[in-house]
Amino acid sequence: MTAEIIDGKAFAAGLRARVAEQVAALTADNEAGGAGGGLRPGLAVVLVGDNPASEVYVRNKARQTLEVGMRSFEHRLEASTSQGELLALVERLNRDPAVHGILVQLPLPEQIDAAAVINAIDPAKDVDGFHILNAGRLATGQDALVPCTPLGCLMLLQARFGDLSGQRAVVLGRSNIVGKPMAQLLLGANCTVTLAHSRTRDLPAICREGDILIAAVGRPRMVEAGWVKPGATVIDVGINRLEPETPGGKGRLVGDVDFDAVRQVAGAITPVPGGVGPMTIACLLANTLTAACRATGRAAPKLL
Ligand code: NDP
Repeated sequence: MTAEIIDGKAFAAGLRARVAEQVAALTADNEAGGAGGGLRPGLAVVLVGDNPASEVYVRNKARQTLEVGMRSFEHRLEASTSQGELLALVERLNRDPAVHGILVQLPLPEQIDAAAVINAIDPAKDVDGFHILNAGRLATGQDALVPCTPLGCLMLLQARFGDLSGQRAVVLGRSNIVGKPMAQLLLGANCTVTLAHSRTRDLPAICREGDILIAAVGRPRMVEAGWVKPGATVIDVGINRLEPETPGGKGRLVGDVDFDAVRQVAGAITPVPGGVGPMTIACLLANTLTAACRATGRAAPKLL
């Protein structure tokens, strides 16, 4: 069997187009002085320091925000910024009615307590979905702003399967930003979920139980063909840059799944790059649209 390749790049382009359509409708309503009062959603991104990977993410986020017709506000702060200064900026953004979504790019410099900053963001503007209130809402099945990467994975799965009820899902990795919310989302979609991690015994056997296998560990090509149930759908969240001295390396990006081997066994698989990655920013824009609609008493549009 050779797996179907799930084209996250194309799916993300479709999602961005649907977001852009909704933004255009909201903006037109604004210009016509529509009954709803009109609005142009705005996303503020805060970057502290000069981490090169973060620079690239922030630039891409700002470009795609503008492309879908939203306002983009970029705030670049020195690496030496104090926690108090960053909290003061977050407070200002919380109060700014033109800002509907706030994202503080992680990682933050070590003098700053990331959890304190994230929990200072107005939960209604927390488009990364990392605020403790949104995490709690997701865990208890209430309406929440959901972390973008697992939301993107869920959308890819729902586009493929429709209803996910009854599927056996294995999530490899239990971080707060990917693994745990992924497991909550799958549970909410009525999957039977196993959440595996570094202390899990006999990982290959656990992974082989999954009709759906999500890999989010940050270990290049860790998931081998023998870990995958024949015909399973494999979602590879990992983004790992190979060292130049690795055979076939040369700084290439690879996932947590051994793509060439696993595609011989799986029914469908996301590539790296071009799978989950593009979905993350598209879902950030979708979350910003949702936050803007809710802030102005509008129903959040269905984007699937
Ligand atoms: P973290 O490092 O926060 O978490 C990794 C998880 O994997 C932990 O739960 C850890 O277990 C588990 N793990 C690590 N090594 C092993 C092992 N040998 N066996 C079993 N479990 C293991 O990573 P993130 O969740 O932030 O990210 C995971 C990957 O996803 C990374 O490659 C990251 O770059 C990528 N990523 C991609 C995004 C995208 O947009 N596509 C967005 C975010 C992340 P334990 O808890 O026991 O330590």
